[in-house]
Amino acid sequence: MPHRHSHEAPWLRQLRQGARDASRAWDLLVSLNDDVGPRFTGTPGEAAGVAWALAAAGRAGLANVRTEPAECTRWERGSARAEILEPTCQSIVVAALGGSVPTPAGGLEAELVVVPSLDALQELGRAGVEGRIVYIHHLMPRLRDGTGYNHGGYLRAHATSHAARLGAVGCLVRSIATSATRAPHVGMLFYESDAPQIPAAAVCVPDGDLLARLAASGRRVRLRLELGCRSLPSGTGHNVLAEVPGTDLAHEIVLFGAHLDTWDLGRGALDDGAGCVLALETARLVAELPVRPRRTVRIALFANEELGSGGGHAYAAAHKDEAGQHFVALEADQGDGKPWALRMPEGQAQSAAARHLHTALGPLGIALDPGGARGGVDIQPLRGLGVPFFDLRQDATRYFDFHHSANDVLENVSREDLDHALAGFAVAVAVLAHMPESLRG
Ligand SMILES: [Zn+2]
Repeated sequence: MPHRHSHEAPWLRQLRQGARDASRAWDLLVSLNDDVGPRFTGTPGEAAGVAWALAAAGRAGLANVRTEPAECTRWERGSARAEILEPTCQSIVVAALGGSVPTPAGGLEAELVVVPSLDALQELGRAGVEGRIVYIHHLMPRLRDGTGYNHGGYLRAHATSHAARLGAVGCLVRSIATSATRAPHVGMLFYESDAPQIPAAAVCVPDGDLLARLAASGRRVRLRLELGCRSLPSGTGHNVLAEVPGTDLAHEIVLFGAHLDTWDLGRGALDDGAGCVLALETARLVAELPVRPRRTVRIALFANEELGSGGGHAYAAAHKDEAGQHFVALEADQGDGKPWALRMPEGQAQSAAARHLHTALGPLGIALDPGGARGGVDIQPLRGLGVPFFDLRQDATRYFDFHHSANDVLENVSREDLDHALAGFAVAVAVLAHMPESLRG
């Protein structure tokens, strides 16, 4: 059997090695974390992030560095306080869910009802829920592929409307997180149109577990909740775009996205500072190869992913006419996790393109997942325009210890993992930009 890499282009080896030996990803992330910090929609940090990204793309020698406007939802957190009034006195750590309405002035006091699931909530019916605060006690599993977030994220987004339809006055959700710190895990809440809008907050894991134990003891639990959050009129944010121009197939675009905005509680080092520096560094490494890419590599750092995806929608609207020229779109939004599998566009796991990519990525420990690529939140609007997706699945084992919380800081990023992830994304993007095969079935 011939040696696996005997026919490999030398630039591919250079890229795989360079991503780990000559990476500037960590230094970029230190700068983004320390000099900018949280980049929450509508705050000065958001604008500082855009300025930072433009400067970083310029320093990386990228072409066509520019911003594009995006209509962005805005919301302000305000203060959040909660305390157990019965059967013990204890203040608990909560954070309003994104988009939540405030509590009435002075806060609200009500009996707590604890349920592990939406089914259990339905079984209680209106008689068991009306006038109460519902607490959803769902325990998120720690999984390498991060799929524990799917159901957890659904509960966080939709449980409030389920509770409100049964007459609840407020809703609490156990943090969709895998670590027992007193830093709540926030995220968006979606009010369904047929349900009253009631205030909702995430409870940190230890305090949520306390609520569940108190309720399980059979004693009456009463709670006081005060949220000062409010929605604001939407405003204009900006996506940041930059390119490595292609050669003979320059009109075809390999789009590599990440999101520049963050939640407000941490510094957005993992979510999605890591993705932003992976995109910037991938483009720089590809630009510095001795062989220029055949297709144009475009990176897009999106606005407003956390608070309504205004950036992703604006990109799809602005580039609708060139959707057919998007060879592929991919996104990095799983922090510093090491890539462990690649996923091809639906139905292409057996294709020549899949073999090509797997051969290039295999030496990094990346397997071929037979499932179809899903893409990240920001590129979803491109799906409807027929743009093929490609995924590099990253190890999410530790990700949800820190995600969307005050603990999303540089200290919880692994430099080694970040550079390993960079090797994966740089190789994938370069191969996608050079490959002779098509990804459109
Ligand atoms: Zn994210």
